[in-house]
Amino acid sequence: MNSPEYPVNFQAKLGYKKTWLSLRYARYFSQIGMIVGLILIPLLGIFRIDVSSGFIVLGRQVWFSDFSLVFGLWLSLACLLVLFYSMAGTAFCGWLCPQNTVSGIANAWTAKHLGKRAVIDWEGQSQSKIASNKNSFLNWIFLTGKLLLLSLIMSLIPLFYFFPPEAVWSFVTFQNDDRLAGSLHWIYMVFAVILFVNIAVVRHYACRFMCIYRMWQYLFKTKDALHIDYDETRSDDCEKCNYCVKSCMVEIDPTKTSFYDSCTNCGACIVACNELHAKKQSKGLLSFKLGKRRNVEHNSRFMNSRLSNRMFAVLPFFLVGSGLFVWGLLSYQPYHISVYRADNSHGEQIYTYRINLASKLYKPGEVSLRVDGIDPQFYSLSKQKISFNSVGRYDVELKINSQMAAGLHTILITAESTNGWQHSERLQHFVSS
Ligand code: SF4
Ligand code: SF4
Repeated sequence: MNSPEYPVNFQAKLGYKKTWLSLRYARYFSQIGMIVGLILIPLLGIFRIDVSSGFIVLGRQVWFSDFSLVFGLWLSLACLLVLFYSMAGTAFCGWLCPQNTVSGIANAWTAKHLGKRAVIDWEGQSQSKIASNKNSFLNWIFLTGKLLLLSLIMSLIPLFYFFPPEAVWSFVTFQNDDRLAGSLHWIYMVFAVILFVNIAVVRHYACRFMCIYRMWQYLFKTKDALHIDYDETRSDDCEKCNYCVKSCMVEIDPTKTSFYDSCTNCGACIVACNELHAKKQSKGLLSFKLGKRRNVEHNSRFMNSRLSNRMFAVLPFFLVGSGLFVWGLLSYQPYHISVYRADNSHGEQIYTYRINLASKLYKPGEVSLRVDGIDPQFYSLSKQKISFNSVGRYDVELKINSQMAAGLHTILITAESTNGWQHSERLQHFVSS
């Protein structure tokens, strides 16, 4: 029988060996791609966090006041994630999660330096054992050094989200940089130590017993979600074999997966079984399947929801979210102007106003100011043109002299940038008789 993810003709065409290899490498590529993506996103300026103002998206500051942009993006992404969980279950864990990736790397290095049976075993079920011919001081040093280096490198990734690449370089090379907080090295070291302990001794136990995100993904699984299908008609092949169980990072039996188990859809068991059967030029007994599980009754109404129903339920929210996001992009203001009274003495005549100009762009720009509704002889501006090198704020003083006629005057202050942005603020200036 053909499975949607792993069709027989595809295997026959490629050859059995190439097929299981392709699944294995596809997973490696997606895991490495995720780590590279996490580094490239801030490096290319796609997304960063500015603790003083909010987020930076594509070189632009996004303030919380850019509501439609923030909420629209959040809603669209949430809808896409719900659809992903509904269809692929917890596949994020198996194919993309950095915790799983570093745990897999740590397992591979441990096997290389201490032997295949030197596994982390907090439950005492795996008969963990260090190979006697590898149990040397040098091997322990190599393994510890590699795990430490991995922790130090991985701990740098969050820094790229908070600081520009040049500042991270200053941090790595121990140079003074005003953009870096004095305690940053301590914060980094604490983070690196936690990560080292996690990689060295926790590994996939975090996936099984600590990860809240995995539970979150469960909430959205449908009965059609991707899962491991087992060909029971050939169960004779499984006598005296538990190769797939041994290959499973969360130590469950892939021939008996259930709706609520720790399976991450990583496909390692499929690769293992296919690898075993490739020698006999036949297909393995395990495959990915989208659709109803065999021999499983779903009692919960939520679980019974079909993928197609979920799609129709999510679609309106996705359309609203993406519509808001597009509107946010179109109406995005690269600069911001606000006008305040600079004189605050109660009951006294006000003659000075402060015009605050903010640039939200991480590139140079120029903004000029114009004042309408008042004769030029009655006012002065401390600066007419403001140049920004990057994001920042600038205060301009508007002084109105005391010669103006008594009454209420409406003054219009217009800011205009060289790239076509324009915005006006209205000001009511009262002169007492
Ligand atoms: S690896 Fe394949 S043959 Fe071996 S127990 Fe698992 S499903 Fe059965
Ligand atoms: S059962 Fe198979 S797909 Fe699921 S976690 Fe284990 S190895 Fe991965």
